[in-house]
Amino acid sequence: MTSKRTRDRLIARLREQGITDEAVLETIAETPRHLFIDEALSHKAYEDTALPIGFNQTISQPYIVARMTELLLEFGAKDKVLEVGTGSGYQTAVLAKLCQKVFSVERIRPLQERAAKRLTLLEMFNVSLFHTDGGMGLPHEAPFDAILVTAAPPELPESLKEQLAIGGVLVAPVGGDEQRLIRILRRSDSHFEKKEIEPVKFVPLLQGLVS
Ligand code: SAH
Repeated sequence: MTSKRTRDRLIARLREQGITDEAVLETIAETPRHLFIDEALSHKAYEDTALPIGFNQTISQPYIVARMTELLLEFGAKDKVLEVGTGSGYQTAVLAKLCQKVFSVERIRPLQERAAKRLTLLEMFNVSLFHTDGGMGLPHEAPFDAILVTAAPPELPESLKEQLAIGGVLVAPVGGDEQRLIRILRRSDSHFEKKEIEPVKFVPLLQGLVS
């Protein structure tokens, strides 16, 4: 189930789908995804699919985690990163291995608590987790060199863009029934360069807290 062969197969699949960043592939190969899902599903941990994590939420598909991370790091290493939507904490763990400091926010408290336990168990001490609504970002820690959103808003909130440092990169799914992955590069104070990447399917970005 967690054999090297199973993980190698996943990495081969990600390569076939066009993931080329070796550091990202290596990080996915090293990250124990089975620890981020319910034991009953752990036989599926290294399949390239999203899986339920409770509260109508899902752990993202490995391809999507790899793709978003690759897009985030394409223009160079990022020190200070914000993730909106901690969920299982799996994407957080991937970011924590590749970036200096990761802030991640989650609106559903039990998910946030479970993710915190897993990341502590894995000794990922460069991560700060918050039980908060991240739709407006995390203003008291801004600016960020990179922002990764893992739930889809109908439109990208301006305040998230505003929390990017100059030269910073944001990757997010945007839309309702039809969603697109977008990447925004902040070139200057007022110049944001936007690129549409590909169609995606994420859970919606919702408002308010669940305790
Ligand atoms: N990166 C996660 C993806 C989880 S799904 C993983 O791979 O496990 C997206 C998560 O975003 C869900 O846990 C959901 O509760 C959370 N979310 C949705 N809207 C949010 C908001 N406004 N603020 C913080 N988290 C939010």
